[in-house]
Amino acid sequence: MTAQLIDGNAIAKAIHDELTQEVAALKARGVTPGLATVLVGDNTASQTYVRMKQKRCGEVGIYSEGHELPANVTQEEVEALVRKLNADPAINGILVQLPLPDHLDEEAILSAISLEKDVDGFHPINIGRLAMKGREALFAPCTPAGVIELLDRTGLPIAGKEAVVLGRSNIVGLPVSMLLLKRDATVTICHSRSRDLPAITRRADILVAAVGRAEMVKADWVKPGAVVIDVGINRVDDPSVKRGYRLVGDVDFESVKEVAGWLTPVPGGVGPMTIAMLLKNTVTAAKRACK
Ligand code: NDP
Repeated sequence: MTAQLIDGNAIAKAIHDELTQEVAALKARGVTPGLATVLVGDNTASQTYVRMKQKRCGEVGIYSEGHELPANVTQEEVEALVRKLNADPAINGILVQLPLPDHLDEEAILSAISLEKDVDGFHPINIGRLAMKGREALFAPCTPAGVIELLDRTGLPIAGKEAVVLGRSNIVGLPVSMLLLKRDATVTICHSRSRDLPAITRRADILVAAVGRAEMVKADWVKPGAVVIDVGINRVDDPSVKRGYRLVGDVDFESVKEVAGWLTPVPGGVGPMTIAMLLKNTVTAAKRACK
């Protein structure tokens, strides 16, 4: 069997096109969605992510403004900025780029973001609502929401399916598990202390890999025909290419594609969905604010 590829680039582009139209319609009513990014310190990966987010905002017509704070900024200064942005009517979404330097209290800063502007979905109340039956988060975290969107837009059902999630991090594994549960999958969450992973993953109709271990999931970990969503982004040395490395997922793409029914590539699978969902959340926030 050769798996069908789930093309995250194409799906993200479709979302961008839809958002471009929605933003134009909002602007015609005098409403411009706005996103504020808060970047602390000089982590180069974080700088790149924030730049990408701002660039994509511009492409769909969302106003964005960047706030850069030095690595030694105080807790009070970050929280004061968040409060100022909470009160700013031009801003519908606030994104504090993680990770923050160790001296800052991440939970307190995320808690300071107004729930209505929590477009990254990491406010403890939004995460709590995500975990509770009968409650709805105002926003779901972007990468996990992107995983669900990939399944939905590919027409792959979730309800009643056996889903296995590899990884339990706050930003991917745990929230994606909660979203799958909300959609009535039967969910198993695995982590570094789980035993006999292949026996567990082979039960999965939907397997989500978010461990940060290059090509860990092999063909014999996968049930024939399963949907495999690879969230991992890992650098492996490759002297044959100019930059000296290439990006691979947590799934051994070459072997797993012979067994899975559906598979996301890396790059070009889940990756492009993260920013698409951030933009979507920002437009949703703007629509709610002008109701
Ligand atoms: P973390 O390092 O925060 O979490 C990794 C999780 O995997 C942990 O729960 C850990 O278990 C578990 N784990 C690690 N090693 C093993 C193992 N050998 N067996 C079983 N479980 C294991 O990573 P993130 O969740 O932040 O990211 C996961 C991957 O997704 C990374 O490659 C990252 O780059 C990528 N990513 C991609 C995004 C995108 O936009 N596509 C966005 C965010 C992340 P334990 O809890 O026991 O330590």
